[in-house]
Amino acid sequence: MTIIRNIDQKCPVCGKLSSQPVLSSTNAMDYPDLDLRPAEMQRSTMSIWVLECPHCGYVSGNFKNETQITEDFLKSDSYQTCDGIEFIGKLSKRFYRAYLIAKESEDSVKCFFNLIHCAWDCDDKNDPNATRIRKLAIEQFDNLDYDESERKNYLAIKADLLRRSGEFDRLVKEFSDIRIGEEIYDDIIQFQIQKALKKDTECYTVGDVKKSTMIK
Ligand SMILES: [Zn+2]
Repeated sequence: MTIIRNIDQKCPVCGKLSSQPVLSSTNAMDYPDLDLRPAEMQRSTMSIWVLECPHCGYVSGNFKNETQITEDFLKSDSYQTCDGIEFIGKLSKRFYRAYLIAKESEDSVKCFFNLIHCAWDCDDKNDPNATRIRKLAIEQFDNLDYDESERKNYLAIKADLLRRSGEFDRLVKEFSDIRIGEEIYDDIIQFQIQKALKKDTECYTVGDVKKSTMIK
């Protein structure tokens, strides 16, 4: 089960205290979505993946980490307006700001995942900005500095980003010749190609892939 406590934490930018949620435990009970979004109950903890200082607006996964970000940066138009993107959800804004901070800190992996988390919250709020955010995440892909052992996960996420943002031809072209050599990942990629050929942008889970391979 999910247990969340609140404790006072000091913001590393403005130095002021605020009560912030801390996750004691959680678990995922079902298959993740194809972009590796976790199932419940872990899914519902997304609201506390990024903390927000109510005093200066700084956001971070952990206030204990030091940062080079300044209060001037937090007051910039880009940060204040989320680059002019009018998100429906407060959480979408928070993830977008975490992306802006990661970009300023030149952390490509954090940029990528904050955009994906932002898109997930847009999905939950039926916010059409989800497509724009997924396209922005795809743009980050070539700059990603990830470990080779993680390649299969990144490719699985990229295939889903392409299909769900309507880049069907690009998905089929880029992924038709890719073989991971691990059954579930190759099944996921084949599933994505089949859905892309049908111009399907819906959300599917790893469970849906397993069901489709059983039918064959
Ligand atoms: Zn602060």
